Amino acid sequence: MPAANPFQNALRQLDRAAKKINLNEDILNILRNPIRILQVYIPVRMDDGKVKVFHGYRVQHNESRGPTKGGVRYHPKADLSEVKALAMLMTWKCALMDIPYGGAKGGVVVDPKKLSHGELERLTRGYVRGLNGFIGPNRDIPAPDVYTNPQIMAWIMDEASRLTGYNVPGIVTGKPVEIGGSHGRQYATAQGGIFVLQEVCGMKGVKCDRFSRVIIQGFGNAGSYTAKILHSMKFKIIGLSDSKGAIMDLKGLDPNKVETYKDKTGSVVGYPGTKKLTNAKLLEQPCEILIPAALDNQITGQNANRIKAKIILELANGAITPEADDKLNKKNILVIPDILSNAGGVTVSYFEWVQNMQQYYWDEEEVMAQLRKVMTRAFKQTFETAKLHQVDLRMGAYILAVSRVAEAIKLRGY
Ligand code: NAD
Repeated sequence: MPAANPFQNALRQLDRAAKKINLNEDILNILRNPIRILQVYIPVRMDDGKVKVFHGYRVQHNESRGPTKGGVRYHPKADLSEVKALAMLMTWKCALMDIPYGGAKGGVVVDPKKLSHGELERLTRGYVRGLNGFIGPNRDIPAPDVYTNPQIMAWIMDEASRLTGYNVPGIVTGKPVEIGGSHGRQYATAQGGIFVLQEVCGMKGVKCDRFSRVIIQGFGNAGSYTAKILHSMKFKIIGLSDSKGAIMDLKGLDPNKVETYKDKTGSVVGYPGTKKLTNAKLLEQPCEILIPAALDNQITGQNANRIKAKIILELANGAITPEADDKLNKKNILVIPDILSNAGGVTVSYFEWVQNMQQYYWDEEEVMAQLRKVMTRAFKQTFETAKLHQVDLRMGAYILAVSRVAEAIKLRGY
């Protein structure tokens, strides 16, 4: 059977939750579709003088609970199905965290590693001009995602401010602190996931402590900070990877040193004293905690039965397919679903936006205290909902999130 596309997978998760809560058919119909899709073609003057045209998207899924929010992904394989799926996930994630946003996502079909600094800046500014009027602090607020970073967010903020005529820091989050970013945003996704992991580890019957072996796929924003924070907490990081491959060392890796090596060589692969393996094989190695933190569709019906971890913290959006979920459940592997695990990013993005709107800035301690509060609350509510409906944590999270969005739609009328 060919693999379902990401949007079909997202619809299947929604339909499952809708069935569990007997969701009104009209509301389900509304939720099965995004509210708006914008496609842009962005001409960029390349360094060699020629013009290349790049294809970009922005999808807004639902705005019943507030302006839409979601990252922008620069990836050669970005496509509409993926962006639609990710926009829908953002709606559930914001509702689950109980923050006043709907969901959106953006994508540009490009391999940013092949662009110069100047080309990347011109592409980003072109994308923002294409989105002019479609995004805004009270409308739709982009943020970083795969292969986009604080520098790109700074260009988005600058271009949008030029188009508006005055500074609009609240139009984008994930900015550098110097221009209205929030303290702690850089490692918020990782830290949020770890706050949830700590709650899980505190549960009866779950064996996970600081001696647990951890494998992390992906060494970007989400993966590298998770590795470094867990290492500082004395967890044993035995496997890491990036797009070029994976490395393992059963004695434990120091992610800070691996990062220095990657900065010099361009990859974690080749780090002295480690065994090299493929990304696919890395996922199948014995460990207590497995953390996919790269791309979607990594644990599927094909390889789920070979996963040997006890707990999976799904930091990457859509890393586990619905078929895989069923198999992992049968194997008693505890999955902490993406919309809960990685919601620390959007939560601190929300804090950043609040600070921008109020022009009053918090210190890092305040940000982290608030983040812990929101993540812990969301975990407890998810756990209770899952228990009540006798479902897994993903379905618990979906039931909670979909119910909240449905209630907002019902109250506002449709
Ligand atoms: P990033 O661009 O910083 O890092 C991506 C990492 O994945 C890189 O190390 C890259 O080498 C690796 N990678 C790329 N292709 C791969 C492949 N085929 N196999 C293995 N590794 C591969 O991106 P990020 O921001 O860390 O995002 C990673 C995941 O986390 C995505 O699913 C994203 O949606 C999700 N996420 C990120 C944030 C955030 O705040 N950054 C928030 C929520 C969710």
